[in-house]
Amino acid sequence: MIPVQGLAGAKVAVLGLGRSGLSAARALRAGGAEAICWDDNPAARDVAEAEGFLIQDLRRNGSFEAIARLVVSPGIAHLYPAPNPVVAAALEAGVPVDNDIGLFFQSFATQAWDNMGTMPRIVAVTGSNGKSTTSALIHHILTEAGRPSQLAGNIGRGVLDIEPSENGGVVVLELSSYQTELARSLTPDVAVFTNLSPDHLERHGGMGGYFAAKRRLFAEGGPDRAVVGVDENEGMFLAGQLTEGRSDDRVIRVSVTRKLTGPGWQVFARKGFLSEYRRGKQAASVDLRSVPGLPGAHNHQNACAAYAACRSLGLPPKVVEAAFHSFGGLPHRSQMIGEAGGVRFVNDSKATNVDSAAKALVAFSNIRWICGGLEKEGGLSGLAVASKSVRKAYVIGREAAGFAMQLEVEAEVCGTMEAAVASAVADAEPGDVVLLAPAAASFDQYDSFERRGDDFIAQVEAHLQRD
Ligand code: ADP
Repeated sequence: MIPVQGLAGAKVAVLGLGRSGLSAARALRAGGAEAICWDDNPAARDVAEAEGFLIQDLRRNGSFEAIARLVVSPGIAHLYPAPNPVVAAALEAGVPVDNDIGLFFQSFATQAWDNMGTMPRIVAVTGSNGKSTTSALIHHILTEAGRPSQLAGNIGRGVLDIEPSENGGVVVLELSSYQTELARSLTPDVAVFTNLSPDHLERHGGMGGYFAAKRRLFAEGGPDRAVVGVDENEGMFLAGQLTEGRSDDRVIRVSVTRKLTGPGWQVFARKGFLSEYRRGKQAASVDLRSVPGLPGAHNHQNACAAYAACRSLGLPPKVVEAAFHSFGGLPHRSQMIGEAGGVRFVNDSKATNVDSAAKALVAFSNIRWICGGLEKEGGLSGLAVASKSVRKAYVIGREAAGFAMQLEVEAEVCGTMEAAVASAVADAEPGDVVLLAPAAASFDQYDSFERRGDDFIAQVEAHLQRD
């Protein structure tokens, strides 16, 4: 655990008592602060109370009179579509609002670091898609290279739950836009921006707000090194703003759409080959085509970003290349489930938005496409170009009929995963890929994208066993 520094003796309100809220409360207590906790859900309050935390209804008038700071969980709206009433009350009372990420950055460095030969480093990854894969890949490469590494944030462990860093240790953080928007302290050594496409717009007041939230990771005077995907205008703009000149190699540009040129530091992938250029010369080349855990151009983007982050930490290209090959990938992202009669089954339940689903469609061919669910803002037109490789769509979700009508491919309204897998299996021919890439959130039918992916796997396995 990372005890919170700088708030000893203070009363700190904690709103939301899920994983990150509870771990913030514990870390505050370990640092000598008094955590005053609230969650609208009584069951969550009971868990905190059982750990001896003071529970107080922060919605009551005057709750913030003696409070030094309010710490908010990422699931709770702090600005759009409207601030949660507790957040609004804190702001009204002039109390600073923060989250576990802000507490972590303010508390991570300790006096023990004075005696370390190699300072601990923090790598933080943000972007619309590929954050988890890129963060997990960086962590995997560092571990394979023998560097002590811890992975936390939006993925896996809460940030305040990690161990204090050892000599030469690296912390790899996956940060969502909700987290970067609110954290009062955000000072990574290496910051990575994978890409940007519309998502969570209701929480950020539109695309501009969404980009602004992610950009905070790169705030002026921020990271020593920035790895920036430049395949969208926002990434180009961000890289331009961070750079001092054409040969400034504090910014590493990443692309999977074109060869990057110029005297700066660039990593790009084309036709399955990653190239690194620095000061106008090619520094390395890696064949990504045979890397099993990273299929498709979108994963090549993640590979380039992870490569750049690890290179900026001093790892040699060959070490990174070797680690690519032992990366198993993450569940629910381009996850190969099995094969029967020449038909492959792939679970990409994490494709919860249009861009990530479009990327999954481009990564495969002859697709029997299971899609649908709770549609996000912005419509489905972004899927049209990618749908060329789709033989037929099998649509799930409560609004399956409406979803199917917007697709530009032959679509069958199936409703449930069971029906969709059964139909896709009945239609599939050797060489086809049955792909779950919903392009929608799961909450109309499941608790999470993981449960949706698990259901797909269960249906597929039942089918494979029957064969
Ligand atoms: P995040 O943590 O940003 O949601 P993940 O690595 O969990 O990212 O991947 C989320 C979804 O996006 C998956 O469906 C995955 O196949 C797809 N994806 C992964 N990397 C990229 C990328 N670089 N660009 C677009 N889509 C991607």
